[in-house]
Amino acid sequence: MNHATTNSHLEVICGPMFAGKTTELMSRVAQAHAAGLRVLAVKPTRDTRYGHSELVTHTGLRIPALAVDRIADTLEHVHDFVAIDEIHFFADEAVAPIQALLARGTRVVVAGCDIDHFGEVFAPFDSLIPMAGTVTRIAGTCARCGAPSTHSERISAVTDRIIVGGIGDFHATCAACFRPSVRGIPLTP
Ligand SMILES: [Zn+2]
Repeated sequence: MNHATTNSHLEVICGPMFAGKTTELMSRVAQAHAAGLRVLAVKPTRDTRYGHSELVTHTGLRIPALAVDRIADTLEHVHDFVAIDEIHFFADEAVAPIQALLARGTRVVVAGCDIDHFGEVFAPFDSLIPMAGTVTRIAGTCARCGAPSTHSERISAVTDRIIVGGIGDFHATCAACFRPSVRGIPLTP
């Protein structure tokens, strides 16, 4: 039996778009680097090629990251600390590999939108939040009333649940101002 203390810990950073989740994730990465841990930062492949990439905040900060199609790809090498951005792109596929990382003693931090533009809980947050030792919920500012934002509202004419979007496709709102997308009905500009 191995009784050595491990780093095993999951932190979930969640909230609507434009709340600063990637910035928060990148601060954890910087702390882990400063502590001398073996760090891996990960993002979904999306429209970039598999391989070396960067985490980029909406304000332009950048750090090196590995772009992967599957979280399971991060299991090939041993790291002390794995940071994963935009975890909602991986949906439920992320859960088993994260459990494997935690079982190995790895510290894991994930960031992403926990509510989709239909107003429903975004997988894998339904699975990850009960497993998390720390949940850091971040709010931005509601685009309509200025209250703290919790929701990401679609404002462009797209219907997919997962959208490679940014400013112009979404804005963040509070629950009272949120207008959910309706399935099968494209938004008319
Ligand atoms: Zn509002």
